[in-house]
Amino acid sequence: MSGVWIISENRRQSMEILNIGQQLADKMGTRVSALLYQNREHVEDCINHGADEVMLLPPLSSEQPLESHIPVIIEEARKGEPDLILLPATPRGKNMAALIAARLNVGLVSSCTKIDFNEESKTLVMERLSHGGAAVQKVICTASPAMATIPPRTYETAMPETGRQGNVRDLPPPPASAIKVIERKLKERETKDISEARVVVCVGRGIEKEEDLAIARQFAEVVGGAIGCTRPIAEEFHWLPEELCIGLSGVQIKPDLYFGIGVSGQIQHVTGIRNAKVIAAVNKDDNAPIFKAADFGIIGDLYDVMPKLISELKK
Ligand SMILES: Cc1cc2nc3c(=O)[nH]c(=O)nc-3n(C[C@H](O)[C@H](O)[C@H](O)COP(=O)(O)OP(=O)(O)OC[C@H]3O[C@@H](n4cnc5c(N)ncnc54)[C@H](O)[C@@H]3O)c2cc1C
Repeated sequence: MSGVWIISENRRQSMEILNIGQQLADKMGTRVSALLYQNREHVEDCINHGADEVMLLPPLSSEQPLESHIPVIIEEARKGEPDLILLPATPRGKNMAALIAARLNVGLVSSCTKIDFNEESKTLVMERLSHGGAAVQKVICTASPAMATIPPRTYETAMPETGRQGNVRDLPPPPASAIKVIERKLKERETKDISEARVVVCVGRGIEKEEDLAIARQFAEVVGGAIGCTRPIAEEFHWLPEELCIGLSGVQIKPDLYFGIGVSGQIQHVTGIRNAKVIAAVNKDDNAPIFKAADFGIIGDLYDVMPKLISELKK
């Protein structure tokens, strides 16, 4: 076995993926290598959290896209022959993963929610949602390296162990690329990234008018949560941006608390919240499917319930 690689953009993702990477490496009898984009300050952290080796990609100029690193990563992968490469299922991680998998001519398990190593058959078994979240697909990777992207917060942060030793290796700069970045613009965001939020307040079609989003915003402020929404709110009404849509065609979230306001709880939506630690919902229909998924439910009119909840929580 020649190793588990993790390729990540920031500290939090590295620590989460190192957790599963190290567990798998232990079972596989191999070591963990972390490949970082110029984050020299995270090297020690990565080693203390389970990396046996850190490979550092050099800084890029403002004209070079992140994808410029691909040829160097491919060359290292061909030389190092890792058994498994893990990346975060973030927009950037998914893009890099697809490019790497295509060039290595291997499969890629996207948005993988569970990975295990079967010590008898010596195979990696991965799970991901399929059929609109109604089924779990089990995938056994036969090509090497196996590759997967893992949604943020699927795994807890690895436990640190101070004084661990590891190698640090600087990788070469990227070769000249035909692609040149002319301008970078930050995408305007309604709120912070909801896939990383600990509390998510989700707005559904039970909210009657756009102005009434204020109710959800007030509640979110009181509970320190980020706003999310169902697909109709983003795609039909355009009251909130599509990046806040939760579910099959939106983001998968894993907060400590999900609070649905006027959300019916159709399977395509619930698929995105099933990993929340606690699910709570307010809905006036006691037969709403959200109550089957919920740990706590309030049956009532949101226009009556929410102001009361907000004022109680403010106390
Ligand atoms: C291929 C596919 C992909 C999809 N992907 C997604 C996805 O990623 N995310 C997603 O969300 N949906 C997705 N959908 C749509 C999904 O099937 C549902 O239509 C959608 O989630 C419903 O949104 P909703 O709960 O806001 O609205 P509704 O289903 O209309 O539910 C509104 C709820 O509000 C309640 N309500 C109404 N008034 C009040 C009130 N005053 N007080 C309290 N409760 C009230 C009602 O009882 C009802 O349960 C997808 C559908 C398809 C076919």
